[in-house]
Amino acid sequence: MVIFKNVKDIQQFISDKKALGSKAGFIPTMGALHAGHISLVEKARHDGMFTVCSIFLNPTQFNNKSDFEKYPVSVEGDIELLLKAGCDVLFLPPVSEIYPDGVDHTETFDFGYLDAILEGARRPGHFKGVGQVVARLLDIVRPDFLYLGQKDYQQCMVINKLVAIRGMKDVTVKVCPTVREADGLAMSSRNRRLTESQRAIAGTIYQCLVSIESKQATTPFAIVRKECEDILVAKGFVPEYVALADARDLILLENFETGRPMVALIAAWTGEIRLIDNVVLE
Ligand code: AMP
Repeated sequence: MVIFKNVKDIQQFISDKKALGSKAGFIPTMGALHAGHISLVEKARHDGMFTVCSIFLNPTQFNNKSDFEKYPVSVEGDIELLLKAGCDVLFLPPVSEIYPDGVDHTETFDFGYLDAILEGARRPGHFKGVGQVVARLLDIVRPDFLYLGQKDYQQCMVINKLVAIRGMKDVTVKVCPTVREADGLAMSSRNRRLTESQRAIAGTIYQCLVSIESKQATTPFAIVRKECEDILVAKGFVPEYVALADARDLILLENFETGRPMVALIAAWTGEIRLIDNVVLE
């Protein structure tokens, strides 16, 4: 695996590879890698891609200072995992390579409705930061395929919109399944910050999502939502939302609709850790 820290070198390397006929599969991350991230590298390799992973803890997408300061960092362990997974290139830039004119001088995008609901509403400025960094990384890496995790469902939609706004017709977005722990907890870098007792209850979020799915044909969503909120509170969570939406455009729904593709989404706090997860209803 070749590691690059500056833009010029990685661009040269990737364009040489592409000239030889390789297709680049790109996996942007913020590090503290786990099996969820690695599944994206494996998928890209399985698709025959030349795999490029980036680790960049993007300061502009954190609306909460303490979340940024306490975000886990484990570059050496990350490199080990990527080596084992057979990743070809790691991009590990400093902030100055991503934002050469400073964080306040970058392109911003209007994601409209997508930025006004759920994560957008609860984390002001978050998707603006995601848009900034992903646009910049796409300009640098120029991938053929971009691999994202369904775990961040709304983020996938925002990035799809970014690619459309930018008219990047040569970039194909691939959304890959959420990798979970044995109790259903969606893997996340932030899980490393859970205490033992928080970790013990963390699977409840997924259990609630599964119960929403299983009750879609029998129970009004308002009732299932209340049951989930009550269960989460009883376990010690502070739920932010238990929501149902159209899986194609995230239009929020008051009730289940037969024949409509739907996704259930939950965000909840345990102590100072905020967890999110979702399930597309089958
Ligand atoms: P992050 O480092 O949290 O910014 O995540 C980098 C990429 O990995 C994003 O596309 C995430 O959606 C994806 N990802 C994070 N957790 C998981 C997971 N448990 N399963 C699959 N993909 C994930």
